[in-house]
Amino acid sequence: MKKHNFNSGPSILPATVIAQAAAALHDFDGIGLSILEIGHRTDWFVAVIEEAKLLVKQLMQLNDDYEVLFLHGGATTQFMQIPMNFLAPGETAAYCDNGIWGNKAIQEAGYFGNVHVAASSKDKNHTYIPKNLSLPEKANYLHITTNNTVEGTQWHEIPPTHLPLVADMSSDIFSRPMDFKQFSFIYAGAQKNMGAAGVTLVVIKKEWAASIQKQVPPIMCYQKHIEAKSLMNTPPVFAIYVALLTLRWIIAEGGLTEMERRSRQKADLLYQTIDSLPIFITSIAKEDRSLMNAVFFMKEEALLQPFLKTCTDNGMIGVKGYRTVGGLRVSMYNALPLESVQVFCQLAQNFAHKHC
Ligand code: PMP
Repeated sequence: MKKHNFNSGPSILPATVIAQAAAALHDFDGIGLSILEIGHRTDWFVAVIEEAKLLVKQLMQLNDDYEVLFLHGGATTQFMQIPMNFLAPGETAAYCDNGIWGNKAIQEAGYFGNVHVAASSKDKNHTYIPKNLSLPEKANYLHITTNNTVEGTQWHEIPPTHLPLVADMSSDIFSRPMDFKQFSFIYAGAQKNMGAAGVTLVVIKKEWAASIQKQVPPIMCYQKHIEAKSLMNTPPVFAIYVALLTLRWIIAEGGLTEMERRSRQKADLLYQTIDSLPIFITSIAKEDRSLMNAVFFMKEEALLQPFLKTCTDNGMIGVKGYRTVGGLRVSMYNALPLESVQVFCQLAQNFAHKHC
């Protein structure tokens, strides 16, 4: 049976990327060795990582003021590493509190300095994006999570700020064109829109990294990673190769404008269906709905398990909501074809017909 992969991450990748990655496991680029067998300082791998950096900059339309790094430790390590580099005792950083992941980032920052919460949606269970920020005159940076993977909300317009802007884009990276120059720091775990788990993308304004005065252990220090060109220690070679293949795919398919067009088409269809069927409810503010992760609930809790079973029986994977939220979550990352959303919507309509 054909599977429809709505996993929230790791999640669906383009079939061509999987095929190319599988081929490279046997023979990378015709050199007679597996991608798993080549050293990270060989010309072969240096060509991979340099092309990947170039394509990231190309997609983001960034110049040499920025450096692209491929690091270990997932986005979660960045929650800690950012304040470790950019925040000292007695200093303040501003954070938007819009969901579980942003909250974890706030907690990590608290180990290093003061946190000013610039906006919070906690009063309504993180079901909206609070757009009026209260920013202190002086703070080292402002941190936002551009897409709240668990709650299903997304910043459709990035808030203006006089502070260096830091963004966790783990779940909507490369899904839409943006003025990426407004950010001083962008990070994302690769395992949603950018490839396999195991590598974290960091895009950093070189000037900001160079301004770090703090003593930071080298492996945690961005400036040292920049100097070492992401090769301070052995990087996740295979995950970086899969990221390169995914970046090539995004560009070949038409780039960020096309990714956004497809995302809107999928999300419009899905949200229209949810809104039209009396079996579902959702409390997310309409204007803040995520194009990547749709979060909704069954009106009658008793129908949740039967609906999930129907999904599984029909090859639909990953539609169960996050463990602390419950309900349903349909993730529609770049590689998810429109057809999967169409099949899901048809199944939801049939289910509603039977149970109403
Ligand atoms: N930030 C966001 C927005 C996420 O969705 C996730 C993971 N789903 C994380 C951070 C944590 O990422 P990782 O597991 O790579 O540490």
